[in-house]
Amino acid sequence: MDIKAIIQKLYDTNDASREELLYLLDNIDDDSKKFLIDKAYKTRYKYFKNTVFMRGLIEISSYCKKDCLYCGLRRSNKNAQRYRLDVDDIVECAKRGDELGYKTIVLQGGEDAFYTDEKMIQIIKAIKKELPNNALTLSIGERSYDSYKKLYEAGADRFLLRHESATKSLYESIHNNESFEERIRCLRNLKEIGFQAGAGFMVGLPNQTNEDLVNDLRFIKELEPAMCGIGPFIPHKDTPLRDCSAGTIEKTVILLAITRLLLPKVLLPATTALSSIDSNGRNEGLRAGANVIMPNLSPMSVRKKYSLYNNKAFILDEDAEYRDSIEEKLKEAGFELVVSRGDNPDFI
Ligand code: SAM
Ligand code: SF4
Repeated sequence: MDIKAIIQKLYDTNDASREELLYLLDNIDDDSKKFLIDKAYKTRYKYFKNTVFMRGLIEISSYCKKDCLYCGLRRSNKNAQRYRLDVDDIVECAKRGDELGYKTIVLQGGEDAFYTDEKMIQIIKAIKKELPNNALTLSIGERSYDSYKKLYEAGADRFLLRHESATKSLYESIHNNESFEERIRCLRNLKEIGFQAGAGFMVGLPNQTNEDLVNDLRFIKELEPAMCGIGPFIPHKDTPLRDCSAGTIEKTVILLAITRLLLPKVLLPATTALSSIDSNGRNEGLRAGANVIMPNLSPMSVRKKYSLYNNKAFILDEDAEYRDSIEEKLKEAGFELVVSRGDNPDFI
């Protein structure tokens, strides 16, 4: 097989077989990586030019009933500092975000029983009453079909639920007693209900092979999510995976670029995790086809408590100054920050 021919095929047809994707991941070198990133950037440019969408992330709870082996919020982590935000705090953050130009708010948190359907509906309606033209994204884990439907009907627009790994055995090895099938069912339910749904996976998980990553790529190609969150795995000191190596920027960037080619219109963040392993992570991600950034809008008092992994980037950057400095840095790197909801073009 010829590696550049595979990349060209990805560019021309937005598809490649399992065998071709595996060959690409197994054999990519500096020269072909440059070719891949160039094609991914051209594809991004076709639909989004050089623009970057901005989401304001509010981390609503560090309580979690789950025990994912990789995550600092897992329920067995006795050192985790727990907090939760209620309606008024969340609406305050969302309004401050709106003033700074964040026209999408993302509410993310552990799976916390405090956030019943009634509570979430109250939060969604309160935000939508204040900011009717802004988009609202939820990322609060697995719930029943009926629950997701109620949240959608209350006004939530998008839902992020990374599939984490599309290989059942790998998924189960990092999720104590959790069902892989249930995770996938949740994602399909979100799509069916009408959310702009987001899947996604970590790169560099312990024992992850290129075959596993090909499973992720084929899975997202088949699911066609509106959004896809791809970031490196980073160990957290109070989890069973504390001594494992983090994913690399090189590999994550390759996966972002291939994803852009497979799903040309997808909303693809350059994640905080990517910036956390490399100070140039955001720019490298954007150059490889990412088109979204998600700065933190959580109250300063809780930021350190939302600790998923070690050495999280930008943790104490002030919102207002930070917003200006992002715009400046993006401009220097050739990108333009846009103040808009930033929907997937297929949902406009
Ligand atoms: N609890 C919800 C869930 O799991 O879908 C949403 C919040 S969870 C903290 C958001 C994402 O953080 C997860 O989907 C996972 O991919 C990522 N994450 C957690 N621990 C991580 C780690 N150690 N390294 C990189 N990403 C991590
Ligand atoms: Fe909870 Fe999400 Fe962390 Fe898993 S990844 S422990 S579900 S917050």
